[in-house]
Amino acid sequence: MPRIAVLDKELCKPSKCGLECLRFCPLVRTGVKAIEFKENMKRPVIHENLCIGCGICVKKCPFKAITIVNLPAELEGECVHRYGVNAFRLYGLPIPKPRLVTGVIGKNGTGKTTSLKILSGKLKPNLGDLSREASWDEIIRFFRGSELQTYFKKLSEGKLRVVHKIQYVDLIPRYVKGTVSSLIEKADERGLVDCLKEDLGLVKIWDRDIKMLSGGELQRFIIATVLCKDADLYLFDEPSSYLDAYERVRIAKAIRRYTVGDNRMCIVVEHDLAVLDYISDHICIIFGEPGVYGIVSNPYGTGTGINHFLEGFLPDLNMRIRSEPIRFRLKPPSTPRTVEQPLLEWSNLEKKLGEFHLTVSEGCIHEGEVIGVVGPNGIGKTTFVRMLSGEISPDSGEVSEKTIKISYKPQYVSSKYSEDLTVRDVLMRASKDAISTSSWFFQEIVVKLRLDRLLDRRIGDLSGGELQKIAIAECLATQADLYLLDEPSAYLDVEERLAVATSIRRVMETRKAAALVVEHDVIIVDFISDSLMVFRGDPGVRGHATSPLELKNGMNIFLADLQITFRRDVRSGRPRINKEGSYLDRYQKRIGEYYYVELGK
Ligand code: ADP
Ligand code: ADP
Ligand code: SF4
Repeated sequence: MPRIAVLDKELCKPSKCGLECLRFCPLVRTGVKAIEFKENMKRPVIHENLCIGCGICVKKCPFKAITIVNLPAELEGECVHRYGVNAFRLYGLPIPKPRLVTGVIGKNGTGKTTSLKILSGKLKPNLGDLSREASWDEIIRFFRGSELQTYFKKLSEGKLRVVHKIQYVDLIPRYVKGTVSSLIEKADERGLVDCLKEDLGLVKIWDRDIKMLSGGELQRFIIATVLCKDADLYLFDEPSSYLDAYERVRIAKAIRRYTVGDNRMCIVVEHDLAVLDYISDHICIIFGEPGVYGIVSNPYGTGTGINHFLEGFLPDLNMRIRSEPIRFRLKPPSTPRTVEQPLLEWSNLEKKLGEFHLTVSEGCIHEGEVIGVVGPNGIGKTTFVRMLSGEISPDSGEVSEKTIKISYKPQYVSSKYSEDLTVRDVLMRASKDAISTSSWFFQEIVVKLRLDRLLDRRIGDLSGGELQKIAIAECLATQADLYLLDEPSAYLDVEERLAVATSIRRVMETRKAAALVVEHDVIIVDFISDSLMVFRGDPGVRGHATSPLELKNGMNIFLADLQITFRRDVRSGRPRINKEGSYLDRYQKRIGEYYYVELGK
């Protein structure tokens, strides 16, 4: 049975711990060097061939830096890449297939980006051997019997052209200069400029310098530059980040339209389950332990694969990947929270800010209520909340209570904190309770979001997903009456999104507060919301907000605008986008039920 021991270099602090792992290791005590302190590396090294997996060092390390796992025997000799001694290992790769879109889903930190780097040729796999570089012949032989054998043969001969849309699009303006039009025209090898300009909604920003683009605009621009390359394999790492629901459907359609065909191959890594379901012909699940190891499953049909993922069990491998299945409710809540005390009420409101004009229909928020908020960026969501908090006054209409306290998590969190603060500093500033291990907040929120391991980390060293969870915990730790969370799911994987949604609901119920959650992942909106506010109009020009509506009515209005219909997956209860023009799509549009028709009807 392969045993792997991973030591998190960020967490390991040998100067502060008294080398507890070495001191207590029973083998070291008898003279067997299963753990050895390496002066040149300034940290211990765990020798996996000697380690007996007793787990004592794991328990003794005060910084939880060590993980030791036993992997199934079948994985012996199957490691595709290993980053270093006691570092992350990847087993298997997603298989690109001609004329199909392969979706990839899995927890953050299990090797999705590593897989894409290997397939793109940017990272040559070492097949788990750190002592020397693997030759292409060895790599090709390693994959014999699978479609990857031919793939790597062609890649090594320079016969495959691969283009890659990276995850963090906000880094791009640092390296690339120019306007949207000049850069796309320069990249275009397929004569697609005019189609992509239209299909990806780039008309309004066509002459803009890319330095001036918002996250969503940058995302659509980069997707266009990737699609207009003449490649054999297109790789998209999280194409829906920063996009609103309408734009997500738009890019999903464009990616399918321009990659499926002519023997081209496409792989999409995506955490928005509705988008993944819509875009993919089949999917691979990457499972394992974040930062420790990742295993890539065989490809499954899209619906079946997503259900296996949610169920947490892969029948063909007889492998449990999660102890609990993820379930969605089969019916939306049919009554809003009228029985609860109103927290805040407002009449019809109107506000002009510069060129922008917002109107809001009268409404009420109840204690404990979570209101999902949907609509594009620049449509007046923040302006509405500023009116609720009394920060700005409406030009007409009024809000019942002017003294409520608001806690706000903005959409972009990367520049929110100074890089040298620790996670502990940030949470403590919001509330001492947040870092007190005996408090309800620590156990129910900090631990459930797995932030307890990060308390001593520098903000500057965190990933996008870790930073997002800290910003959410900070917002929830602050005592307030109304919480506004703008896109809490950005950069989070599916399980983290659901954990965050559950945390938000728990805090609202416990504190009798209310939350407005701006969200573009429709499945999360469905999961989290008691009711829904729909913002519609022309971004930057005029916006109208509905009252908080019963979830089903709100979704119906929203999805009718997007012109997509949903059905419920019978097994998991998750909403699925109907294929455009399918029987259900046409039927639901005809009867005006865009959200979904109840099962059994
Ligand atoms: P995902 O895309 O699924 O979030 P990644 O492929 O980015 O995961 O990373 C998987 C693991 O490998 C992470 O724990 C990450 O810290 C580690 N890792 C990534 N790049 C390197 C590297 N160059 N050196 C060492 N470890 C790395
Ligand atoms: P959202 O939260 O939906 O992204 P906002 O409420 O922040 O939208 O903004 C709606 C529109 O109002 C945007 O076009 C924004 O540029 C404009 N706006 C916001 N504040 C001001 C202001 N103080 N002066 C002029 N225009 C503003
Ligand atoms: Fe200390 Fe833990 Fe690092 Fe061992 S692994 S040196 S116990 S911090």
